[in-house]
Amino acid sequence: MLLKRQKSEINLNPIQRGGILTKEGREALIEFGDGYATYDLSPGLEIEDMPIIKNFIEKELPEFLESDIAKFTLGAREGIFNVMHCITKPGDTIIVDGNRHYSTITAAERCKLNIVEVKNSGKPEYKINIEDYENLIKKHKPSMILLTYPDGNYGNIPDAKKLGTIAKKYEVPYLINGAYSVGRMPISMKKLGADFIIGSCHKSMASSGPLGILGANKKWEKILFKKSELVNKQIEFIGSESRGTAVATLIASFPKVKKRIENWDEEVEKAKYFSSEIEKLGIMQLGEKPHNHDLLFFEAPVLYEISQKHKKRGYFLHQELKKRGISGIKAGLTKNFKISTYQLTKKELDKVVSAFKEIIDENL
Ligand SMILES: *Cc1c(COP(=O)(O)O)cnc(C)c1O
Repeated sequence: MLLKRQKSEINLNPIQRGGILTKEGREALIEFGDGYATYDLSPGLEIEDMPIIKNFIEKELPEFLESDIAKFTLGAREGIFNVMHCITKPGDTIIVDGNRHYSTITAAERCKLNIVEVKNSGKPEYKINIEDYENLIKKHKPSMILLTYPDGNYGNIPDAKKLGTIAKKYEVPYLINGAYSVGRMPISMKKLGADFIIGSCHKSMASSGPLGILGANKKWEKILFKKSELVNKQIEFIGSESRGTAVATLIASFPKVKKRIENWDEEVEKAKYFSSEIEKLGIMQLGEKPHNHDLLFFEAPVLYEISQKHKKRGYFLHQELKKRGISGIKAGLTKNFKISTYQLTKKELDKVVSAFKEIIDENL
């Protein structure tokens, strides 16, 4: 069966922008596409013993994350689950930010944990006040705390370093969910004072995925990497790290990922530029302002108004954008939607703004 994607010239989908393969990643995808093809990297060796993989996990990744140890996981969510599963026990309480991803909740539920959420500030900025963690830590004595950095809705960058100080003060293990930061922007687990950091390779590291990475402090090594007494394999990871095509694409793309984070300031500038241009059309950016990340959340009463009268209803926006070579806003949405400007050129962003202007002018 022939499977085809619907592709467009400009893709604004936040979950896809950071996962676009590099040229090298795409070549690795073809080279290592067959099942278990990574075993041909070093015939005869187990994945974790292969020099390329070993060097990547033991040297490249910890250097990149500024962690002591690192590990592949099946995705960001599985990494979050792995940490929760290793360091908590059923019935424990954890504290997470109110902007957390849904998978933080399902991972915690799978571990049978009680979840306490730090509320955000509500409309329009939805910020997390880090100081709110402190009272909740005193009250609930959590076995871990988690911060989403940035969150996947508004692209807010909370004060992760301040939470690091609080975590130290109360000696509570601290996990940073960097699904939207690791691989896009400079981030250091050490500097932020976290015990664990999680990344999503298909979301932010130019990798095919599904694949995640986990960085941790040395003091957690024994617990995380505990071995079976029956077979010489790690229990939490069921004996083997992620071991397929995705790993090959990650390693192939990695030199360029390391380079691209140096351009983060430019990425933030472009996001700010796009936000200010689109706001001229009566579309409001919610979340932190000025904004510090390429993920942008908008509220567009003007587009909603059009949808109420348009014969295609809420689907008109997706269709009108598609006609103009632009995709990535969920079909059916008009009132609220999110987009990412990551690695789009200023010219492409201008084209998107013009398209919105035209669509509004023609339909209002
Ligand atoms: C996308 C996302 C995840 C899930 O990432 P996977 O690697 O697909 O599991 C988790 N947290 C946040 C904040 C996300 O945006």
